[in-house]
Amino acid sequence: MKFSLSTADNNARLGFLETAHGIIETPTFMPVGTQGTVKAIEQRELVEIGAQIILGNTYHLYLRPGLEILRAANGLHKFMNWRKPILTDSGGFQVFSLSELRKLSEDGVRFQSHIDGSEHLFTPENVVDIQRVIGSDIMMMLDECTPFPSTFDEAKKSNELTMRWAKRGRMQFLLTEELYEHSQAQFAIVQGSVYAELREISAKQLIELDCEGYAIGGLAVGESAETMYAMVEVCNEILPQEKPRYLMGVGTPENLLEAIERGVDMFDCVLPTRNGRNANVFSRFGKINFRNAEYKNDFTPIDDECECYTCRNFTRAYLRHLFMTKEILGLQLATIHNLYFYQWLMKETRNAIREKRFAEWKREMLASMAMRSESGRRSFGK
Ligand SMILES: [Zn+2]
Repeated sequence: MKFSLSTADNNARLGFLETAHGIIETPTFMPVGTQGTVKAIEQRELVEIGAQIILGNTYHLYLRPGLEILRAANGLHKFMNWRKPILTDSGGFQVFSLSELRKLSEDGVRFQSHIDGSEHLFTPENVVDIQRVIGSDIMMMLDECTPFPSTFDEAKKSNELTMRWAKRGRMQFLLTEELYEHSQAQFAIVQGSVYAELREISAKQLIELDCEGYAIGGLAVGESAETMYAMVEVCNEILPQEKPRYLMGVGTPENLLEAIERGVDMFDCVLPTRNGRNANVFSRFGKINFRNAEYKNDFTPIDDECECYTCRNFTRAYLRHLFMTKEILGLQLATIHNLYFYQWLMKETRNAIREKRFAEWKREMLASMAMRSESGRRSFGK
């Protein structure tokens, strides 16, 4: 994997991340495909939307379909027929959020599957091995996602465990090889909760591991947006300029623009897909909820300037009808639009950074997105 920065506009960066499955332009948004599928849409639609990389999840894929099948399929790319890059989360977050009866030790984390209650152990080492079998282009280290809120001492203890695990994970990565015919990269995850001092220690120690990239984890878990941005700033002051920075699990369009302004390159979040399935769509002029009766007779598209398949072909009235009748096409069309919107937002962001007008563009975009309340009329560009 090779990362190159092409230009910057203050702290906002424009770059290229080269992987064996293609080049990713950054800043980038990665649609979440937890179980080897981005919910409600097809792989060909992901390509049409312009997704350059998607996310998979180690915890879920390890439990189902399981390593035997993934190995027999020659990895996740072939199994799901996705030819572009894949990043896999380590599964740590899911162990802590989904499974019951987990037991944390120096060795790793023992947990019960949320599916059948069977017992499993994730260690920093076997999480690397599992991601070798999955064959993701970018793998994440096992970390302890520090609960929020945590006291300084709790967060410190948790952070120290994550740092010890990171050393072991990096060692395992360096001692093992890829299983298929493409190279893999490994990102470490900066933790430290909402404590600047711990974030600094974490970032400084992880840099020594010389990973291919760095993630900022444990945010967007209940702290305020201001605190999240402050932590991002602390981390980005320390993380090396020449490596990609990934803010995990974030966020709203506003969160993305604020974090990009502070030097973040990569994002993933379930918001566009999950909200889409719940009849909520994003647009340049704010959010729309199709459960709202005002769209009953609205024969305009979500956004008449959006070039996604949904907006080019269907009206708000029809989308509302699909959601009211619980037709699965509604889920698909709303997901297509939302992911297209996030990709569009990143494309416009990259153009603005290239032309050194990011701050100004961001201000206009945020004002425009805030302009439209649930009951308001479209006002952008009219
Ligand atoms: Zn659209």
